[in-house]
Amino acid sequence: MMQFSGKSVYKGIVLGKTAVLGNQDTPVKHRKIDDVKAEVERVRLAGIKAKEQLQILYDKALKEVGETNAAIFEVHQMMLEDEDFLDSIHNMIQTEMVNAEYAIAMTGDNFSEMFAAMDDDYIKARAADIKDISNRLIRILEGRKETGPYSEEPVIIIADDLSPSETVQMDKEKILAFVTVHGSANSHTAILARMMNIPALIGVPMDLDRIRTGMTAVVDGFAGTVTFEPDEALCEEAKRQMEEEREKLRLLEELKGKENITLGGRKINLYANIGSVSDIGYVLENDAGGIGLFRSEFLYLGREKLPTEEEQFQAYKQAAQMMAGKKVIIRTLDIGADKQADYLNLEKEDNPAMGYRAIRICLKQPDIFKTQLRALLRAAMFGNISIMYPMITATEEVEQIFKIIKGVQDELDTAKVPYRYPEQGIMIETPAAVMISDELAEMVDFFSIGTNDLTQYTLAVDRQNEKLDGFYNPHHKAILRMIKMVVDNAHKHGKWAGICGELGADPELTEEFVRMGLDELSVAPSMILKIRKIIRELE
Ligand code: PEP
Ligand code: MG
Repeated sequence: MMQFSGKSVYKGIVLGKTAVLGNQDTPVKHRKIDDVKAEVERVRLAGIKAKEQLQILYDKALKEVGETNAAIFEVHQMMLEDEDFLDSIHNMIQTEMVNAEYAIAMTGDNFSEMFAAMDDDYIKARAADIKDISNRLIRILEGRKETGPYSEEPVIIIADDLSPSETVQMDKEKILAFVTVHGSANSHTAILARMMNIPALIGVPMDLDRIRTGMTAVVDGFAGTVTFEPDEALCEEAKRQMEEEREKLRLLEELKGKENITLGGRKINLYANIGSVSDIGYVLENDAGGIGLFRSEFLYLGREKLPTEEEQFQAYKQAAQMMAGKKVIIRTLDIGADKQADYLNLEKEDNPAMGYRAIRICLKQPDIFKTQLRALLRAAMFGNISIMYPMITATEEVEQIFKIIKGVQDELDTAKVPYRYPEQGIMIETPAAVMISDELAEMVDFFSIGTNDLTQYTLAVDRQNEKLDGFYNPHHKAILRMIKMVVDNAHKHGKWAGICGELGADPELTEEFVRMGLDELSVAPSMILKIRKIIRELE
């Protein structure tokens, strides 16, 4: 047995045979030329052919994995027209009198190294795309065909790295999993794997020379491991888990595409909570009607500095596009308390949960807030985005937020940057917000009740303190009455109200929530079908 660990980009478990993809790009021949014009013309013609191929790939991807994921082939088409890239190739042909293939290979390497060295994760991930288009041009110039997969049986693809075009050309039915030595979680290959709903591991430090096509392997996306030549016990365990997963899915699968409607005819929206764009695969897989809480602070965590407007814009835009018109409620930065980012230099506090966090940071440091709002307003052009503000305690805070938003709109107007003004809501997660929810309802479009914090603030129980677990009771009458009060106040003003705290997914309370008149429950993706089942069985 040989076992390696990597980063799981999509969960699931499979047992199957491997197909090892070798490096299909043989070294490019270096030739001296004497007709510069003819060589430049070869590059131009190869570019035209490449764009035709990419159009075919785009059309295929559009059908199979949707517009957002297909967009990478449009990006490749644009890259092929990039002046810096083309100038560099032409310049090398002219000054060094070398063949087109060689000039393209060198330029591709240079640009790809340059991208890989950038701080920005998104740009870093584009290094593979530059290599991809260079290789495509070279293949065309050398008259080589694209290599496709692999065998009649579905296989586990093992590779050093995969380019997006390699990934999408693969026949989905023939792939059990991806395992690669390199690749970033941000790459389109990882995104495609998630969309294809197959386990995928990246950053696996395996020695490809020791792995052969046709070996048996277990890819465990839950544990983030791949095991080659597993022993019998592991194979049996993998088979058992695969069966368990299949059974779980099969039972709930029947509820996909069905409405969240009670026997008495009352409908309720069931949305999903996510922490990052990479969770959207689960949202779609579980047939959620939208995203009720995108905890945007995860974009700010585990890094050295604040995410740029562009990084955020890309993430929100991708979420909006992947959800294709369904609601995507993005909560603005809720950092502080248990979610710390060193670069913000937040001082240690005696009572962090009641301290400098969430909207308080945003209102005190409006530059951070404005960057996020700009990204959100711009991304709202690409789908059905709503913005939601956390930790609200007073109407004055909402007024201040709207003032800042107005400033952001003015800036975008002046710079003629396209944007859309989305639906605006707040989280109700402090007792103060509950008590003034009648006034708040006049100001915003919707409420989403954050029962996790509402419970801790109402019961004066620190939600992080293990010793208090027995006292943390979100079923407390006080909480349930507060929820009812919030719903009633929202409805009085023609606004909708939902729950996005963990309590929303508590099957014991589903009936009560429906009775209270909640319009939406936003739960972990894996809970969608379970709650749908309960709703559909209610009188
Ligand atoms: C909540 O407080 O209920 C909530 C949804 O927000 P978080 O858990 O992220 O604080
Ligand atoms: Mg909260």
